Amino acid sequence: METIFSKIIEGSIPSNKVFENERILAFHDIAPAAPVHVLIIPKKFIASMNEVTPEDLPLIAEIHSVAQQLAIQLGIAESGYRLINNSGPDGGQTVPHLHYHLLGGAKLGALTG
Ligand code: 5GP
Repeated sequence: METIFSKIIEGSIPSNKVFENERILAFHDIAPAAPVHVLIIPKKFIASMNEVTPEDLPLIAEIHSVAQQLAIQLGIAESGYRLINNSGPDGGQTVPHLHYHLLGGAKLGALTG
């Protein structure tokens, strides 16, 4: 399925990349909600958390590893950060391609509904 993120993966829409390998891409969010706000996405199309299969679990684990490394690289590992997945309408998902928000660089507010 074509989304804004598939266009970013193929390069037809530019992005400010902070990490890329054959399976994963990470780039700065266009509308940052914190001083550090990076999106980490699989290059494979997975619409949302609901579509993650057991075969995808190594990819999901690698996304966590990339998040851990990016937190160090972006200087937020010690001060703290959040890794968030929004899934579906009630979860606030606006782009139907699985992605994780890495947020930090300031004291973040409490998670509330
Ligand atoms: P969601 O609300 O689906 O969890 O997160 C989607 C995120 O994608 C939002 O934080 C939004 O700012 C970001 N976003 C939407 N379009 C673009 C874009 O063209 N480039 C970048 N870098 N981020 C985008």
